[in-house]
Amino acid sequence: MNLILLGPPGTGKGTVAQEISSRYHLPHISTGDIFRQNIKNKTALGQEVESYLNKGDLVPDDLTNRLVEDRLNQEDVADGFILDGYPRTLDQARALAEILENKKAKLDVALNVYVPDEIILKRLAGRRVCESCGDTYNIYYKKPEVEGTCDTCGGKLIQREDDSEETVKNRLKTYEEKTAPLISYYEQENILKTVDNSASLDETLAQVKEVLD
Ligand code: AMP
Repeated sequence: MNLILLGPPGTGKGTVAQEISSRYHLPHISTGDIFRQNIKNKTALGQEVESYLNKGDLVPDDLTNRLVEDRLNQEDVADGFILDGYPRTLDQARALAEILENKKAKLDVALNVYVPDEIILKRLAGRRVCESCGDTYNIYYKKPEVEGTCDTCGGKLIQREDDSEETVKNRLKTYEEKTAPLISYYEQENILKTVDNSASLDETLAQVKEVLD
């Protein structure tokens, strides 16, 4: 099964993707995670993309498309994948279709993760990440036992640079301009399915199960 996840930042796409990945045994490919990992490891790619991420701008399409093509050519995706955060523009959607066509494959589902705007803002502004192990928390919805400290490893919780208020606003604006048109693109392709992730993760996963099974 070849899946992509759509939806603005702050809908909890990443968490939904991780759950689907473990339940359906599909490799979870998050372009945002790949970029952040490269920035953390100070690779050439990381240095190239760092300023885009810090401002909440999109990394250029050609670079992102090449990265995804390389990833989709690896062996572990032969039986399917879940792409999280890609495609984010119409150009990327067309590039993905071409990459898959060359592999004689196609997308099965574009899963749109919906959450009302006011919840999105709290999720983004409240998000904290452990700087040591990467576990995520939220000061409104998923508080750590000790403020500012990771429950899992005791590491320090920080706000991701791209979760700052100014960057969050820019990321949402970028989503509306560049990514929202993909909803009608995949609707026309007849593979769009929407799940509501404003209540509990279990409720969302029940909807996902209905769609995917
Ligand atoms: P995410 O974790 O998916 O919200 O991605 C974080 C940031 O990585 C985005 O704000 C962009 O700067 C960059 N990024 C991730 N995926 C893409 C993509 N498909 N195209 C361009 N930029 C991306």
